[in-house]
Amino acid sequence: MHEIQVQNTLSGKVEPFVPLKKGEVHMYTCGPTVYDFAHIGNFRTFVFQDILRRFLKLRGFKMTHVMNLTDVDDRIIANAAAAGVGIREYTQKYVDAFFADCKAMSVESPEHWIRATDNIDIMVALIQRLQKNTYTYDSEGSIYYRITKFKDYGKLSKIDLSGIKAGARVDNDRYDKESARDFALWKAPKPGEHFWETPIGPGRPGWHIECSAMAMKYLGETIDIHTGGIDLAFPHHENEIAQSQAATGKQFVRYWLHAEHLLVEGEKMSKSLGNFFTLRDLFAKGYKPSALRFALASVPYRRQLNFTFDGLQQATSSVERLRNFVARLRDEKFPAGKSASMAERIAKAAGDFDAGLADDLNTAVSLAAMFDFVREANIAMDKGEFREGEVKPALEFLATFDKIFAVLEDNDAEKLTTLGYGTTAAGPDDAEIEKLVADREAARKKRDFATADRIRKELAGRGILLEDTKDGAVRWKRK
Ligand SMILES: [Zn+2]
Repeated sequence: MHEIQVQNTLSGKVEPFVPLKKGEVHMYTCGPTVYDFAHIGNFRTFVFQDILRRFLKLRGFKMTHVMNLTDVDDRIIANAAAAGVGIREYTQKYVDAFFADCKAMSVESPEHWIRATDNIDIMVALIQRLQKNTYTYDSEGSIYYRITKFKDYGKLSKIDLSGIKAGARVDNDRYDKESARDFALWKAPKPGEHFWETPIGPGRPGWHIECSAMAMKYLGETIDIHTGGIDLAFPHHENEIAQSQAATGKQFVRYWLHAEHLLVEGEKMSKSLGNFFTLRDLFAKGYKPSALRFALASVPYRRQLNFTFDGLQQATSSVERLRNFVARLRDEKFPAGKSASMAERIAKAAGDFDAGLADDLNTAVSLAAMFDFVREANIAMDKGEFREGEVKPALEFLATFDKIFAVLEDNDAEKLTTLGYGTTAAGPDDAEIEKLVADREAARKKRDFATADRIRKELAGRGILLEDTKDGAVRWKRK
């Protein structure tokens, strides 16, 4: 097994991963702010942290992993007030949807799912600790963090603090580096807004204090890994460090792992550009959860991911290829005996697969190891050179693969139905399929293989599999 290396945002370097306590990993992931349905950019990060978690488990670490649900922040407060409902009522629909999305995407549950609104008392206690350590000041009923007092401020996101005026404040939970200021730990209530009566006065917590308080409550004052999207590094994670370390005097997080942005067809995803997709938008179009998971997992997390529909189509075929290979291993009869070279080939693929993941979760390398092996094994099978003795080790390698990538189980239809997207209802009808199959045949007769292939892919993307039989006929079936 290869030594696990991770790129730590804090040091800016790739470092060997060694947890504080041997054999155990304490990990925190910033969960969603539940004011809307999660989009594919959010799930890029959630799939990344799921792969990390699964890999650490595969390596035998005992995980204590916390993911929070931010169910109180500026946007939630404003939306709930506008809708005239309490914040719990407002957020519940999105909490339920998020859990359902995670299930569809095979994102494992962490050991602790926690909600910010269940933990107001510990946030208040943390603010009191910061008051005692004189890192705070009050203004008009709100409590602010004095960033000039914390000498390590800016170390994570490497921002230039030279232009910052002491005492300048920012009240929004989210702001950019240019507006780095003293931020609100506790916000005085505005008329019509939800608030809590507490020993530090009426109000509600700022977004940043939520994660500091909850991470330390469940994981201790120094935790091994903190993950999130790169857009959270500033100000959110910077402020988490400032809060936690000013309270405890100890290092808060040892390894910061951030997933890069997701682009859609080369552009920043935004509602105004019309390229903004929730998971549900894609499921409604008939795309499979496994294909989406595969597409999001296939690009190493530290690289920008350019999400394209071509890519999603390719992911659909890639998952299909793997499932077909597993079916072949299970169903076909192979000549008895063993093949030393194939046994070696499997061991090499498994080694390369592990090496890729150990190298800062380089999923591209791990997937290449799998697909190279599948291609070679398929050729060996076609030639009658694959032996029965290699079926078991090959299936074991695929099982290991699936402990990480989790796409082999053929349960997409079931998942989509659970979410309310019937595959057959949304899919093409028989007449339409027959026509496309005939078009493809016509193209093949004209030796226009590009068109034939495009039609086959289109059908595959819509859940229709084609089988070219030996007598020249074409069979099709719905997945
Ligand atoms: Zn957070």
